[in-house]
Amino acid sequence: MAKRDYYDVLGLSKGADKADIKKSYRKIAMKYHPDKNPGDTEAEAKFKEAAEAYSVLNDEQKKAHYDQFGHAPEGGMGGSPFDGFGGGGFGVDLSDALRIFMEGFGGGGGGLGDIFGGGGGRSRGRAKGSDLKIKLPLTLEEIAAGVTKKMKVKRFETCSDCDGSGARDRGGKSNCTVCQGRGEVQQVSRSMFGQFVNIQPCSNCDGTGEVIAHPCKSCHGDGRVRTESVVSAKIPAGVHAGNYMTLRGEGNSARRGGQHGDLIVLIDEKEHDMFIRDEDNIYLELVLDMSQAVMGTELEIPTLTGKVNLKIPAGTQSGKLLRLRGKGIPRINSHLVGDQMVKIQIETPRKPNKQEREIYQRLADYYGGRSKGGSIFRKIKSLL
Ligand SMILES: [Zn+2]
Ligand SMILES: [Zn+2]
Repeated sequence: MAKRDYYDVLGLSKGADKADIKKSYRKIAMKYHPDKNPGDTEAEAKFKEAAEAYSVLNDEQKKAHYDQFGHAPEGGMGGSPFDGFGGGGFGVDLSDALRIFMEGFGGGGGGLGDIFGGGGGRSRGRAKGSDLKIKLPLTLEEIAAGVTKKMKVKRFETCSDCDGSGARDRGGKSNCTVCQGRGEVQQVSRSMFGQFVNIQPCSNCDGTGEVIAHPCKSCHGDGRVRTESVVSAKIPAGVHAGNYMTLRGEGNSARRGGQHGDLIVLIDEKEHDMFIRDEDNIYLELVLDMSQAVMGTELEIPTLTGKVNLKIPAGTQSGKLLRLRGKGIPRINSHLVGDQMVKIQIETPRKPNKQEREIYQRLADYYGGRSKGGSIFRKIKSLL
């Protein structure tokens, strides 16, 4: 693909002045900026193309060259910065294009600082401790009520003997010679746009800017020690297995006083010996004998928050679901609370004693072996 004319790219005519060039470039760059067109490769290509055109036309010398020779690399252009572009595609990669945009409109150092992570808030690109993950099994009772749990966590903690510095004594540190105490190193690369400075944490001192002459005996200069700590987590009501919570700064401490990592708490649900959970509702089976089902009764029923009385109406059928409203599990981040469902199961006496046999015989005689009208066969409603 042939390279488009830079003036065409910016929608300008040959005589355009610096102000026009900047204005047009800004308009195009804003339109095709990757932040506004995520995943759009065509927009990205246009963004890069505009950046390339702008970087040339905005530079007196490069513009003069371009006005005279165009894109053609031959004839007096040998050794020019254009060579790097090759014949075809654009010579500007996305990071170049973003930098050109930032330099043009980013508002100076502040904008660049953010991109390189060197802005005020972060401390010279120091390493962050690694994150830890822990599984936290909870009972249904804990899930229903919400709970604060204490967990034992094996992690790196800041060494108390050296306050995380790693040095045996305060004077035992000297500035890193690789980065001269800055904690970061600059890699300078050259492109046709001039020097491109890339700033990275110094690997010799882990971005601290200091090296240790006499390492701390407790941590051997690491600034941290491996310990078992107790961390507490406040778990809201209504969580599910698979939910997780991030406890900021409760992970491993970084070497020599950097930022702590996070602790990721993964919720697990312990199996209950009586209840089964279905989202916000819980289910319990209640076994009644035949007289209770026929005559009705009132029984004490366990729930996740203690016992309650449940009235069983006379004539209750096997399989019937009775509902205890609000005795289920609260929905997380909501005022809704599920119900407890009580499924009735009527149990037939397996080995009736003599007295029971007499009673049931009397009942059988009373019915006289007849059905009480209608068919005794019905289609099954559900196989479950
Ligand atoms: Zn130490
Ligand atoms: Zn260093």
